[in-house]
Amino acid sequence: MDTPIAFFGLGQMGGRMAQRLLDAGLSLDVHDPAPACLQALLDHGAHAFTPGAARHDIVISMLPHDKAVHDLYLGTTGLLRQLSAGTLVIDCSTVSPELSRQLHQEAQTRSLDFLDAPVSGGVTGAAAGTLSFLCGGSASVVTQAQPVLSLMGQNIMHAGPAGAGSVAKLCNNMLLAIHMLGTCEALNLGVKQGLDPATLSTIMQKSSGRNWSLEVYNPWPGVMPQSPASQSYRGGFQSQLMLKDLTLAHQSAEAWHVSTPLGSLAQQLYAQHVAKGHEQEDFSGILQLIRSMESLP
Ligand code: NAD
Repeated sequence: MDTPIAFFGLGQMGGRMAQRLLDAGLSLDVHDPAPACLQALLDHGAHAFTPGAARHDIVISMLPHDKAVHDLYLGTTGLLRQLSAGTLVIDCSTVSPELSRQLHQEAQTRSLDFLDAPVSGGVTGAAAGTLSFLCGGSASVVTQAQPVLSLMGQNIMHAGPAGAGSVAKLCNNMLLAIHMLGTCEALNLGVKQGLDPATLSTIMQKSSGRNWSLEVYNPWPGVMPQSPASQSYRGGFQSQLMLKDLTLAHQSAEAWHVSTPLGSLAQQLYAQHVAKGHEQEDFSGILQLIRSMESLP
């Protein structure tokens, strides 16, 4: 890693991932249109730069959605057209498998090494360097990316060829939304009947209902002091991003003629939650929608 790494997207996830690289002593050129996100990294020794203005051997992006990724690499900024042959490009954003495959194809034409490498583990995993990277691309490029990804994550997994990382990520997040909703429903049912949410959580954590939402990311305020639920659902993984992922999963299901009834219901519930103005709140805040629903006698 002789030249600085270029890092695009310094939000909830990207900011923490970039910080890990700085902490490891790497030199970083960073870009984000949001001044506060950019400044936080500049204050820790990163350098601001404009795409195309410097040479980089490694480029990493962590952007919110397909449009931002398309604009950066193929559209208005057209970064793939500016990079030198042999550059390693790693897109960690959660995007559609179709866009990931398009980026792989364009990168191959230009002799660039490309990986779709979305992550799992949330903001706590990003801060602790314990993320899982779900990689799509050739095995040799995954090996090439291993040293830099290992500074930000613990599990570097090869899901398959171009786009496979994005497919795996959307499958995972559809399941995440479903078990978050199930966890909210179960907690609400118990609390309505007088149970303490922390006690009920402990019971279910030690029983067959245990799952990640319950154990690591409890949606009930006050049960886990560090979870977004205990910070009024601030920070974490925005509900509008979860809705984006569920919509992408739904589109894949339609395109491949696969039935995903629970995924579709989760998409509808998150759409309602976002429409009520909770788009920037953490996705565990869907508990509020569940609690607001009155069942008919
Ligand atoms: P975020 O909205 O906090 O951050 C996105 C950042 O990208 C913003 O700061 C925005 O200003 C910046 N940006 C937009 N266009 C840009 C561009 N062209 N160049 C540089 N920066 C640009 O979102 P986040 O929570 O960090 O999520 C980022 C991605 O990671 C999303 O695809 C999300 O689905 C995925 N993800 C998030 C989590 C989580 O827990 N937050 C977990 C896993 C995966």
